[in-house]
Amino acid sequence: MSGKLAVVGLGPGDARYLTREALAALDEADALYGYGPYLHRVAPRSGQVRHPTGNSEEGARARAALAHAARGGKVAIVSGGDPGVFAMAASVCEEMAAGPPEWRALDMRIVPGVTAMLAVASRAGAPLGHDFCALSLSDNLKPWELIERRLAAAAEAGFVIALYNPVSQARTWQLAHAFTLLGRHLPGTTPVIFGRAVGRAGEGLVVTTLAEASAIAADMATLIIIGSRETRVLARDGKAPLVYTPRAVSSVPA
Ligand code: SAH
Repeated sequence: MSGKLAVVGLGPGDARYLTREALAALDEADALYGYGPYLHRVAPRSGQVRHPTGNSEEGARARAALAHAARGGKVAIVSGGDPGVFAMAASVCEEMAAGPPEWRALDMRIVPGVTAMLAVASRAGAPLGHDFCALSLSDNLKPWELIERRLAAAAEAGFVIALYNPVSQARTWQLAHAFTLLGRHLPGTTPVIFGRAVGRAGEGLVVTTLAEASAIAADMATLIIIGSRETRVLARDGKAPLVYTPRAVSSVPA
């Protein structure tokens, strides 16, 4: 009997963000792999074995799941949000490329989920209404110099920027540097959104400006959206403001 591997996105938070496809893939699996806190989000099912791993063990986790599926298991490996966005799906592909031929022959599929950037954007309004890009601010997997170059290019090109992984316990100075750098390319009035633990307990949203952004606390559960020159804030009486980027741009900036 041949095994199967599903790489499943759990969405940003609790079970209401799970797609039906993700639910079905989780239900079909005899074994679940994933970072412990993500696995914790999946409702237990009898007969299903869980293999929680640490946060920084993506390659080892992908190899374990692939080996298990190659032995004939029905395996699901989970990611928060979407598994293809700074998450497990790419690790699984990398390990398939480097591993034994039977891994490449496996029945492997990737089940999408609502990525954090979309969840945060929906809370704030429509900041991603025009062209945007997503960057991880983590310099664990790429040089800081490359991050700086990409941030500057994205701001100059007029992209709204979604920043994943803004800080961690080991990465404390990078975010303030990023705001300083972006301040050289964008007005201080540019809207900035901090979305924390969106879709989970402790959800928080702060709308501020680039000039004020350094004063706002961010952590590993925060995603930051930095507007473009077009992004606006619509104030509303007694209601949260709406941050939006209009659908059209009519001129090419100088
Ligand atoms: N695959 C995930 C992203 C993994 S990178 C996805 O598609 O969402 C981890 C980063 O995602 C965190 O540092 C944070 O920036 C962001 N993130 C994940 N869940 C979040 C949530 N519920 N609210 C805000 N940001 C979140």
